Amino acid sequence: MTARGVFHILARRAQYLVLTGYNHLAVALRSVGIPVSEATLMRPGFWNRYTLDELNPREWEALCDGCGLCCLLKYSTENDEVIYTSVHCRLLDSNTCRCRHYEARKRIVPDCVKLTPKSIRANASWMPSTCAYRLRHEGKPLHDWHYLISGSRRLVHKLGISVKHRATCETKVNPDDLFKYSIWKP
Ligand code: SF4
Ligand code: SF4
Repeated sequence: MTARGVFHILARRAQYLVLTGYNHLAVALRSVGIPVSEATLMRPGFWNRYTLDELNPREWEALCDGCGLCCLLKYSTENDEVIYTSVHCRLLDSNTCRCRHYEARKRIVPDCVKLTPKSIRANASWMPSTCAYRLRHEGKPLHDWHYLISGSRRLVHKLGISVKHRATCETKVNPDDLFKYSIWKP
């Protein structure tokens, strides 16, 4: 392991500890009657302790592992089977695996599915099997590599789970050729 690699891991760990430290502080403040907004509070171990319906907005957003797999283009067969392709949405930053315009995503890409505790019920079946929302929807725990457990947001990329460096932007692909990019269903 390189020194730089060690630095990155330590930096991520520190960031994680600051985050969880803040949450413990917020819980302590609330316990003595000092109001702390629910929307800014993440409860310890929320990812495996509460159902999706019970998560507050901040916890909901934090659940995403940043894999970007759901931003791959898909098509369905005559049998209603969902086939993933190695072509990603034009708004996806292939380096960070994050949406470039997350807040405005639905306006820019109308067929982008906005996941909510309600919409996950209708969409979980086509979501990647590793997706944190799908796992929790199915009552399963998150994988150990998830950053909320491992403390590293890089693991999802290092383990080859994310789309990082594995997909082509839709702007570079002829829509008629999409089926040529068919891949496994993640
Ligand atoms: S597949 Fe799930 S965990 Fe991965 S980026 Fe999409 S919503 Fe987040
Ligand atoms: S608009 Fe953003 S969140 Fe939606 S599929 Fe595209 S990259 Fe993903």
